[in-house]
Amino acid sequence: VHDPIYLINQSLKQRGYSLTKPRKLVFLALLNQEPITMNELIARVGENVNRASVYRTIKLFESLGATQKIQIGWKYKIELSNKFHKHHHHISCLNCGLVVPFQETKNFNHELTSIANKLNFKLTNHQIELIGLCINCQKTRTPAHS
Ligand SMILES: [Zn+2]
Ligand SMILES: [Zn+2]
Ligand SMILES: [Zn+2]
Repeated sequence: VHDPIYLINQSLKQRGYSLTKPRKLVFLALLNQEPITMNELIARVGENVNRASVYRTIKLFESLGATQKIQIGWKYKIELSNKFHKHHHHISCLNCGLVVPFQETKNFNHELTSIANKLNFKLTNHQIELIGLCINCQKTRTPAHS
């Protein structure tokens, strides 16, 4: 696995961009982290990068396939794409936004491959996000909805 800074630098270069200081700070704020919201990201880079610049950088990173949005209900969180860390998925709480990463079993992977094969596809990747209520929110939400 290549150095992440090297990888992001290459992705930017290929499209004629360079790794400016604000871009590097945004990238480092996302590195080795679980998904965070735009506001959390803005808070994390602090005064070094202004809000508009964080938004622009994420838009650019997204177009390069360097970051991905994790949709949780109508909100989303951001994390670096699979290029930068091990393949995994998330289960998210619809109520409080808690995000927990997980890796699927081999059996589940075989199942996906066989579904794709039946549909005459050669599977190259998949995206799965699970959504539900975390243990705390199950407690607080259940009475109100029953
Ligand atoms: Zn993740
Ligand atoms: Zn997977
Ligand atoms: Zn929750």
